[in-house]
Amino acid sequence: MKNILLIWLALVSACNLPTPVKKSEHYAIVIHGGAGGMRQENMTSAQQKAYAQELEAALNKGYSILENKGSAIDAVQSAIISMENAPLFNAGKGAVYNSDGNQEMDASIMEGNGLNSGAVAGVNHIKNPILAARMVMDSSSHVMLSGKGAEILARKHHLNMVDSSYFFTQKRMNQFNKEQGRHQASNKKEDLIDDHKFGTVGAVAIDQEGNIAAGTSTGGISNKKYGRIGDSPIIGAGTYANNLTCGISATGTGEYFIRTVAAHEVSNLIQYKGLQPDEALREVIFKQIAPMGGEGGMILIDKKGSVYWDFNSNGMYRAYKKSSGEMVIKLFGKE
Ligand code: ASP
Repeated sequence: MKNILLIWLALVSACNLPTPVKKSEHYAIVIHGGAGGMRQENMTSAQQKAYAQELEAALNKGYSILENKGSAIDAVQSAIISMENAPLFNAGKGAVYNSDGNQEMDASIMEGNGLNSGAVAGVNHIKNPILAARMVMDSSSHVMLSGKGAEILARKHHLNMVDSSYFFTQKRMNQFNKEQGRHQASNKKEDLIDDHKFGTVGAVAIDQEGNIAAGTSTGGISNKKYGRIGDSPIIGAGTYANNLTCGISATGTGEYFIRTVAAHEVSNLIQYKGLQPDEALREVIFKQIAPMGGEGGMILIDKKGSVYWDFNSNGMYRAYKKSSGEMVIKLFGKE
C-alpha cells in the first residue's frame, strides 16, 4: 500500500500536475449570469428581483454541496444546472437564437486538480449542456465534442434529451425577430434589458479539500452565424481552473476572449508574473480585450478562497457565497 502511495506521489510530481494545495476552511462559490448593457433604470423592480432570486437559488444549490463536504466540480455543475433551467439566462432553456432561428449551445467544465476538463459545442437536444460537458470529461478520452457526436454520446449516457422546442422562450424569439429587423425596435423596459446583453452563465468554486473547479454554459451570441462557437466551451478562453492559481469563468464577446485566451492568460499572470488576481483580471479585460473592442467580464476564485470579479460592460449579473457566511448578489455597476 505504502509503495503504491509512493509511486503515485512520484508520478504526480513528475508530471507537475496541480494537486490539492491544502485543506481549506475557506470554501466558496461565485457565479455569473452574463455581462452586458443592463442598466437599473431599464429594469422593473420585479425583473431585478427575479434575476436576484435565480442567482440566489443557483448559489445556494452549489454552496450546500460545498458545505456538506462535496466537491467543487459538483458545486459548479449544480449551480449551472439551476441557471440553465431558469429561462431568464442565455443558457439551456432561454438560450438565444442564431441567424437561422435555431439555438446552439456550448458548455465546458474543468477541475483545477489535474486539469481534467470536458466541453460540448453546438448542441440543441441536451437539456443541460453542462452535464454533457461533465460526461465528456468523466466518460471519454476527449476534451471537446461537438453537435451530433456530443448528442450521440449524451444519449448513450442517458442524459436528459429534449426536443429543441424545449429551449424556446418568447423573450428570445422577440430579440431574434428584432435583430432580424422583422419588427420595430421596442422601447418597452422588458425588451430594453436584453439589448447588448450576452447572458452566459458560469460558476467557480473551491471546496473543503482546496480543489478548485470552473464551468460555463451558453447559447452564445444572439443572431450568431450557424455553427459559430464562442469562448465558453474553449478551455483556457471562457473557462479555466488550476489549483496552483485560480478558477475562472468568463462572459462577453467570445471572439475576443478566444483571441486573448483570456482565462488562461489571467491564470498565467498570477502564476508566472506574480500579479494579484484583481490585477491580472484588470490587465486582461482592460489592456487586452477592451482595446480590441471586446466587452465582458470574468469571475475568479483563487487558491486561498478569495473571490474576485471585474468587467468592462455596464453590468454583470453576479453573486458569491463564502464559508464565512458572507453572501453578495449584484446586477449592475461596480459598486
Ligand atoms: N461568451 C459567450 C459567447 O461568446 C457569450 C456570453 O458570454 O454571453 O458565446
